[in-house]
Amino acid sequence: MIRTRFAPSPTGSMHIGNLRTALYAYLLARHSGGRFILRIEDTDRRRHVPEAIQVIYDSLRLAGIDWDEGPDVGGSYGPYVQSERRAVYREHAEHLLEIGAAYRCFCARAEAQAAAAPALRDPCRLLPRAEAEARARAGEPHTIRQRIPEGGVTSFVDHVFGTITVSNDTLDDQVLLKSDGLPTYNLANVIDDHLMAITHVVRGVEYLSSAPKYNLLYTSLGWEIPEYVHLPHIVKESGKKLSKRDGDASFQDILARGYLPEAVVNYIALLGWSPGDDREFFTLAGLVAEFDIDRINKSSAAFSFAKLDWLNGEHIRTLPAERFHAAARGYYPARIAEALDTARLSRLVQPRVARLSDIPHMVAFFGEVPAYDVALYNHDKSRSTVASSRDVLERLGSLLAALEPWSNEALHQRLVAFAAEAGLKTGTVMWPLRIALSGSPATPGGATELAEVLGKDETLRRIAAALEVLRQA
Ligand code: GLU
Repeated sequence: MIRTRFAPSPTGSMHIGNLRTALYAYLLARHSGGRFILRIEDTDRRRHVPEAIQVIYDSLRLAGIDWDEGPDVGGSYGPYVQSERRAVYREHAEHLLEIGAAYRCFCARAEAQAAAAPALRDPCRLLPRAEAEARARAGEPHTIRQRIPEGGVTSFVDHVFGTITVSNDTLDDQVLLKSDGLPTYNLANVIDDHLMAITHVVRGVEYLSSAPKYNLLYTSLGWEIPEYVHLPHIVKESGKKLSKRDGDASFQDILARGYLPEAVVNYIALLGWSPGDDREFFTLAGLVAEFDIDRINKSSAAFSFAKLDWLNGEHIRTLPAERFHAAARGYYPARIAEALDTARLSRLVQPRVARLSDIPHMVAFFGEVPAYDVALYNHDKSRSTVASSRDVLERLGSLLAALEPWSNEALHQRLVAFAAEAGLKTGTVMWPLRIALSGSPATPGGATELAEVLGKDETLRRIAAALEVLRQA
């Protein structure tokens, strides 16, 4: 059975690359009826913030990614949390010391050094075991480092990047347990992936070059090495990294720009993976059905907001009307929401909008007709001119004042009939009405739909105001 995990550090935001890692790990497990696990990697205490864990939950929930097991927290599964598992790491570090695969390092600057420019081998590597144990017992602060074998090579096959072979002499004796007793990622990831029976480790390519060191640990402990699926970076179209400053790096930032979570999930699935044909629209369930690690691409994927706009529009079109309205509701300017039935507005907007954040601009004219140029009344295709528009609107005022009921259907029927009686093209009647009501040649919905939403009084008021301008033209 395939078992995968998502192992985020609580940083306070969900980078879009990390969300893609979570998604691929989830899809890989679900596609084969396997298990997906959430593990919070919070052993770097400088970064630990409880609210940051909430961000992880919220992001996964919005993305529809749920996990299959974990400690019981009031009837549901909590994640595994590394800071609660110190004893496990310490015990394994001790075992590595006993079998000679690790050593105690008393160099004062050891941790700082390891972070800056790692010296590959540390002098403490040569300390006799008894002496090191005595110093440790005496309470001397120290770290525990991995003892990388001298000579030889370490080789493994990554599902995406192929065969990776490195000479052991290029690998550093990395710190496994810090002097505060907490493990580094280097130790914790290996122990947890083994104890949680992870079959496929899915993570960012930045861990590819460390994998040989982890493999040496697995081997020392007599454990089976998992399969690796390292994922390439997501970059901007310019090739630069997605950055926090530009507001395009995190899932939250992107959602705040007016995108639906399901569209973002669909889009990031395609950033580095393809179904093998030209299909692009996928629900999460569709992705589960199709996902296959053999079609993950090893080159960096470029994030295109234009592409996401398109996909977002496609997802908006498939939403049930109530769900679209619930998502759109917050985007209507207050004065429009007070004056008009926004559920009706949503029905006009849903077939046409790409981003939810486009809604305020798209519906602005419902609140107030902008000052516009009478030249907009000229429209060849509708055989509309400034003069024809004046005539039509003159007659529409009384015609519409008498219309009952006030509905799109009734309006449409009446205006089509009126055009026929007057020997005009339907467009010659509809066009000036649309301009009079909206001041715009491109509107969400045709003239009669706009009139329905605006209501009879406002429609008549706008026709009268338009006529005043037209009479002076
Ligand atoms: N905690 C690591 C990160 O957030 C996870 C790496 C892994 O998946 O093994 O980058």
